[in-house]
Amino acid sequence: MKLLLFDIDGTLVNAFGAGHEAVEAALQDVTGHAIDAGGIAFSGKTDPQIVRELLATNGAAGGDPEALIARVLDRYADRLAATISGKRVEALPGTQALLKRLAAREDVVLALLTGNIEPTAHLKLEAAGLDRFFAGGAFGSDDADRDRLVPVAARHAQQHTGRAFSGSEVVVIGDTPRDVACGKAHGARTVGVCTGRYDRADLSEADRVLDDLTGAERVANAVVGT
Ligand SMILES: [Mg+2]
Repeated sequence: MKLLLFDIDGTLVNAFGAGHEAVEAALQDVTGHAIDAGGIAFSGKTDPQIVRELLATNGAAGGDPEALIARVLDRYADRLAATISGKRVEALPGTQALLKRLAAREDVVLALLTGNIEPTAHLKLEAAGLDRFFAGGAFGSDDADRDRLVPVAARHAQQHTGRAFSGSEVVVIGDTPRDVACGKAHGARTVGVCTGRYDRADLSEADRVLDDLTGAERVANAVVGT
């Protein structure tokens, strides 16, 4: 039995910057300043981590930074909820068929491991038509440090299924070196997918690297067998 933990952005979904836009708008709403996100890479980071960096680089981190981050993230979820229906958000190639196939298997539990806060994770998956496959997982709202999210996802899966998962029973699937690192931090198996900003060389620390998630049967067997 395997617990499969999927990343969202760049792995399952392309939101074409809808998240970035909503984060920047939320930062401006809360701080009253236009925010310059230039030079900050979002890939693989958790939402609270991104907001913290954006506040710091824009000199807007004064007062109680944790409270400020929480306010920005609440506002971000509201902003994305209000705008996402007008945005282009797509499931990446092969994901629909792959998840359908995996969901039908008796030997896997499907869950998420994403830097998105929980509300925006579901908004993006819903917009891409993939939300029905996931009962839960671990989110940026559970911990700003991605490296601490595997145990959160395992605990959630245990509550949900009554079964404990650890070490190589867990497979982390994601598009960035940060996904790979967070799995390795807990002895999980890791699958890198080159559909985000990173290529095979960048993801070479993963146990397996896939160009994309097309070819449902082949990819399902590869992921479960990793
Ligand atoms: Mg990603």
